[in-house]
Amino acid sequence: MVRVRYAPSPTGTLHIGGARTALFNYLFARHHHGRFILRVEDTDQARLVEGSEESMMRGLKSLGLVWDEGPDVGGDYGPYHQSERLARHKAALQQLLDAGQAYRCYCTPEELAEERARQEALKQPPRYSGKCRMRPQDDPIHTSGKPFVVRMKVPEEGTTVVQDLIRGPVTFENRILGDFVLAKSDGTPVYNFAVVLDDYDMAITHVIRGEEHLSNTPKQILVYQALNLDLPAFAHVPMILAPDHTKLSKRHGATSVEEYRQQGILPEALTNYLLLLGWSAPDDTEIMTLEQAAQWFDLDRVQHTAAIYDIKKLEWMNSQY
Ligand code: GLU
Repeated sequence: MVRVRYAPSPTGTLHIGGARTALFNYLFARHHHGRFILRVEDTDQARLVEGSEESMMRGLKSLGLVWDEGPDVGGDYGPYHQSERLARHKAALQQLLDAGQAYRCYCTPEELAEERARQEALKQPPRYSGKCRMRPQDDPIHTSGKPFVVRMKVPEEGTTVVQDLIRGPVTFENRILGDFVLAKSDGTPVYNFAVVLDDYDMAITHVIRGEEHLSNTPKQILVYQALNLDLPAFAHVPMILAPDHTKLSKRHGATSVEEYRQQGILPEALTNYLLLLGWSAPDDTEIMTLEQAAQWFDLDRVQHTAAIYDIKKLEWMNSQY
């Protein structure tokens, strides 16, 4: 059975990029008679914004993007929370450490900054040198109480290939990835590690997310492989850019679902508009309900280039409802 998820970090309100990712996941699940799951990625406590989770859930519900399972909250489904899975994340981290596939790195932020400055001066890409990788088991530093992060031992040679359902194979050189961090010095896992266990344990079959995560995917694939877990399929949806082809931001006007609502944009018109930001129906129909869209929606009709945001088109769409 197809199982997909929308996995926002609760750092703000629901923006059109996130809403479109959720919409594509929702429609993919409906089309394949699968399940759409909401998982709040809240492990990075420092970035949490009070009220963000509730506001995102309201935004999703207002667009009709209701998830199919989750913990029972008063007869309704709540989202899954990444933070509740800390014990599982820590156990898997230990597994990688025990197997010698990850290691403790004691380099201080100052040492890392120096290393980065040296690389910059030589016009080399920023990458951890691997200094702590070679430390023997009986190195006294291990019992010194010095804080450490945990890093992945990335193969120094070869490539990792993302078989992307939208873009085809995308190849990354392992050498360039470097030994990335799996857990911070306070023991909390970072996104690239936690997401693998969460997607695997929730039996996610297709990871559909924004293209900004494409460069994270080879790191996640290395974690899947190190833990001997089957990979899901990956699909990275091209970005939404402003009309001047720059990153869409506040200076281009309203970009959050909440703001659109305040400006009188109907939720049906907004979902319809978001649908056409990067996808088209087989017969080029433009006005359609979520149910109609679900009949047609598949990833092979997602465009490969960036979608250009067009407020006039959104206003036109709104006038059709
Ligand atoms: N939490 C990530 C974000 O909000 C999404 C991660 C993912 O979809 O894998 O960007």
